[in-house]
Amino acid sequence: MIFIENLQKSFGNLKVLDNINLAVSPGEVVVIIGPSGSGKSTLLRCIKYLENPESGRIFVEGQPLEPKNKSFRALQQEIGMVFQHFNLFPHMTALENVMEGPITVKKMRREEAKRIAMDLLGKVGLADKRDEYPSRLSGGQKQRVAIARALAMQPKVMLFDEPTSALDPELVGEVLSVMKGLARDGMTMMVVTHEMGFAREVADRVVFMDDGRILEEDVPLNIFKAPRHERTKSFLEKII
Ligand code: ATP
Ligand code: MG
Repeated sequence: MIFIENLQKSFGNLKVLDNINLAVSPGEVVVIIGPSGSGKSTLLRCIKYLENPESGRIFVEGQPLEPKNKSFRALQQEIGMVFQHFNLFPHMTALENVMEGPITVKKMRREEAKRIAMDLLGKVGLADKRDEYPSRLSGGQKQRVAIARALAMQPKVMLFDEPTSALDPELVGEVLSVMKGLARDGMTMMVVTHEMGFAREVADRVVFMDDGRILEEDVPLNIFKAPRHERTKSFLEKII
């Protein structure tokens, strides 16, 4: 589904991604963990092409993701992304936020976009909040609207960058449970999170990043019970 080959990225003299190789299969849930500054967000942003990789290649379903290719925009749209800070349009209702992408980007008819958006708001448990503006929604509700908005573009893969880090603890569960449902439905997902319970329960694979590299990757049980690297072990000891 996603294939990353020798990906490198620097900001000035700082090498942030150092030869990343990673393959994510259809339906797989990969959780990415690692210390602050290790390059987790930059990795997701490069996959969505919000940052230009400096070298290396990214393939989506076998097709290279490169701006010079005709299919670039279409491929980029197949990658949905959810951020820590929701990034909803404040002047639009929940429903309008979810309808926006299909209408403006996919040129979908309004009625069709509305039908899809209502369906998705139902799926994230917010059918009754469709006419509310973001300022009147809780953090957890905003994040669920953001997930519905990303899904409205019918992505093949969903990237989550610390989707629950900005939430009050009691609101984390409702967002994680929407994500669990997505995983159960077979969505391919890459998730940067500090929620180790989610990683244990939902991830097929956990990737530990340190200093721009993938230091190790394995099924959650092995990463948590028997990390191979001292760095992984000390990181886990600090956060669990
Ligand atoms: P965190 O857990 O704190 O979110 P992260 O693993 O997501 O960290 P990144 O945000 O990918 O880390 O950042 C990796 C490194 O790149 C950091 O040293 C950061 O300061 C630097 N960096 C990120 N974005 C930029 C940018 N646009 N310009 C310059 N440096 C950047
Ligand atoms: Mg980050």
